[in-house]
Amino acid sequence: MKKIGITTTVPIEILLAAGYQPVDLNNLFISDPDPARLVNIAEKAGFPLNCCSWIKGIYGACMAYGIDNVLCVTSGDCSNTIMLMEVLKLRKLNVIPFAYPQQPLPQQMEYTLQELAQKLGTILEAAEIVRAELSPVRALAHQLDDLTWRESVVSGAENHLWLVSSSDFNQDYHKYRSQLQQFISECRQRVPYPDDYLRLAYIGVPSVYAGGLYRYVENHRARVVFNEVQRQFAMPEPGSSLAEQYSNYPYPYSINERLHDITHEIARRRIDGVIHYVQAFCHRGIGDIIFRDAIKLPMLTLEGNDDFVLTSHNRTRIEAFLDMIKLRSSKIDPINTYKGDIHED
Ligand code: SF4
Repeated sequence: MKKIGITTTVPIEILLAAGYQPVDLNNLFISDPDPARLVNIAEKAGFPLNCCSWIKGIYGACMAYGIDNVLCVTSGDCSNTIMLMEVLKLRKLNVIPFAYPQQPLPQQMEYTLQELAQKLGTILEAAEIVRAELSPVRALAHQLDDLTWRESVVSGAENHLWLVSSSDFNQDYHKYRSQLQQFISECRQRVPYPDDYLRLAYIGVPSVYAGGLYRYVENHRARVVFNEVQRQFAMPEPGSSLAEQYSNYPYPYSINERLHDITHEIARRRIDGVIHYVQAFCHRGIGDIIFRDAIKLPMLTLEGNDDFVLTSHNRTRIEAFLDMIKLRSSKIDPINTYKGDIHED
């Protein structure tokens, strides 16, 4: 199959039906042994320092991995992608624009999907067959999510990695399926996390810290049991057609569509606190104002750029945030904690 880079989650069923193997360029970038080198490729090509690292990483990944075809999402994700697309064209890549419709309405979505299918030389009926093939794979990803928040046997980092990978199923959905099946049966044998761990939600775009953030909070007796955007990549509301599935996918639309999902999951998963990750120079960071107004729980806003590991400043902020929630929910004893500090001094 010909590889086709994707700049965010797209209807991969159509790409697969057209004989393309989707490659999520974000995952290619962040899983590179040295993601900073991909950012450097973009900066050497002239991308400004104050441009989001994901955009630069995507460009660097295209160059370093020799990606020839790219499906660029021009509406419903990131306005920077429009200019990225122009630069990729300049570099002689075959660039295909894709715009989510203005409203998440199945009829509009059907028309948009038909157009994409036509551009790629396939038909929607063929993509529906692929959708049916992917359905059990997506169901496994949802099982893994349930094992995270209901059974407490999957870590936040594992949840993140499996769900974020569902945008392209690690470039091989057969392999993803068998590996995830195996992983789930191993998880079922595990001892659950203790009940006194704080339960956190992670909202916002996936971070540049990959698993590091999750491991850090777990070292402080807290765990992420809800990864908002990553869970959406696995399409938890598949509906009865591709048009419905992608209309139920809230990420490309108003922040209110996301808020509806977030507040529902926060209540269902008994969340104690929220980490909102924002990427430096990203317009989505402004949404923090709306989240803080609507979500009535302690919230920590973390901003990442191109550091790829948690800075000591961020580590301190996370620790203070977790201590504050524990105090509020009496999961630590303030008097003993205070005495402990005096003793150490
Ligand atoms: S983090 Fe924001 S600016 Fe960066 S690619 Fe994603 S949407 Fe665009």
